[in-house]
Amino acid sequence: MKPIVMDNDQVCRKDNILGSLPPSDQLISIDLPVGTGVLAKNLDSDVRTIQKALNQIKPIHGGPTVALVVDGKCGPKTNSAIWNFQFKQFKAKGADGVIEPGKQTIQRINQLLFSNAPVDPSVNAEIRAKVVQHFSIVARSVHAAQATVLMANAPEGGLDFGRSRANDRLDRHFALNTLSPAARAQAIRDIHGVYTMYSNVLLMPGALGTGAFEADPTGDPRIAFTFGNGFFLQGAVHPEKNIPLDRIYLGRRAFFAINDSEFCAFIMLHEMAHFVGFPGGGLIDDNGRGWFTDDTISKLSVRQRLLNADSYATFAVECRTGDPKKPPYVKAATTSR
Ligand SMILES: [Zn+2]
Repeated sequence: MKPIVMDNDQVCRKDNILGSLPPSDQLISIDLPVGTGVLAKNLDSDVRTIQKALNQIKPIHGGPTVALVVDGKCGPKTNSAIWNFQFKQFKAKGADGVIEPGKQTIQRINQLLFSNAPVDPSVNAEIRAKVVQHFSIVARSVHAAQATVLMANAPEGGLDFGRSRANDRLDRHFALNTLSPAARAQAIRDIHGVYTMYSNVLLMPGALGTGAFEADPTGDPRIAFTFGNGFFLQGAVHPEKNIPLDRIYLGRRAFFAINDSEFCAFIMLHEMAHFVGFPGGGLIDDNGRGWFTDDTISKLSVRQRLLNADSYATFAVECRTGDPKKPPYVKAATTSR
């Protein structure tokens, strides 16, 4: 039973679950900037946090080759370790010698170090707060998508709550304008069926509070994974990993160590498509990743888009934001499985 795994290049592949994060405690954080320059305050406790964290990072990822002395003083060795880490991770344009609270350097350190021990979100306020933010965006997107699909199918002549705008959105993401009226109506009913299952996913009880989402307990270093049509596999368990199949697993490094909730919500909306499948039992796969304006999507047929996870995720995003412009976190990729 192989799940659909979203790898760190954001392409999904059918693959085995791995499980190989380096151990550490919880997310690390600092109160004030550490390093060089006018922003840096170099509080003793913050400097110690950074020194300890950098010492846990392998040199191949930009960690120091000789461990820093954890003394709370930001001297030349600590400063050069910060520069080296930033240069390795972000190249010259991302290396400014200072680590600011919540910014990209600390996020990357957390992505590299975050624990592979089981995480209990009920005892970690930081994780909990992030998950709540992601969920809220997902829930609003699902509601907006459902409302739009219902508007698109509203009978003519009554109040127009946005019927033509709704149909334009469906055309952009699913190319329904190429269909006969009867085929179009059927496609809209099917899309409605998919988003109805989406809203059921949000109603499923789960360890993170609501929905079928779980923090990945296996320690797989990739973004997320789920089982195709797992929505219908209640009670089934993975034979080797002993985890339920009716769940969507969020990689902790991807989901809890970064602050971009819009990106996380988008990935969750994508995973939900694999998880629920198409009405009648088809698998919603990856025929192309990207926004409808990307070549990877615009070349797809209606049928390919109706069975394409990103088409559901991007449609829901546009329904929530009202903006047909491609958001920065959507990445185009051809998929090859
Ligand atoms: Zn996928």
